[in-house]
Amino acid sequence: MPVKGLGEYDDQNVFARILRGEIPSRRIFEDEWALAFHDIAPQAPVHVLVIPKGRWVSLADFTARASQGEIAGFWRAVGAVARQLDLEAPGYRVLTNMGDHGHQEVPHLHVHIFGGRPLGRMLEKRLAD
Ligand code: AMP
Repeated sequence: MPVKGLGEYDDQNVFARILRGEIPSRRIFEDEWALAFHDIAPQAPVHVLVIPKGRWVSLADFTARASQGEIAGFWRAVGAVARQLDLEAPGYRVLTNMGDHGHQEVPHLHVHIFGGRPLGRMLEKRLAD
């Protein structure tokens, strides 16, 4: 059953194609559970995407259906990538967009890792809008 709002997994989405090696990416990490590569349009000095290897549309899909091993393996990979990038001492931000309000553009779960400068407050202060 598809996750509300995002539909079934699309094997032609850009990250599925990156996983299959059909389109190029600047890969920096790969293990059994995850692949990490530089975002094509960086929004910080460091902007890396970490994606699980499984066919998961979103964080909603992943947390509802993935195995304990996949979930643990994926989040350990996120931490390992940040460590590999030497971001632990200065700090970094992890962000996942989900669905329409979250402005998720690519329908394969991905975690953004931002770093390399002070990143400011989490969201623009517009609570009432
Ligand atoms: P989101 O809005 O969370 O779905 O973010 C999708 C991200 O994927 C954006 O930051 C894009 O710049 C990035 N992106 C899209 N296509 C590619 C690609 N071929 N290689 C690397 N990053 C990409």
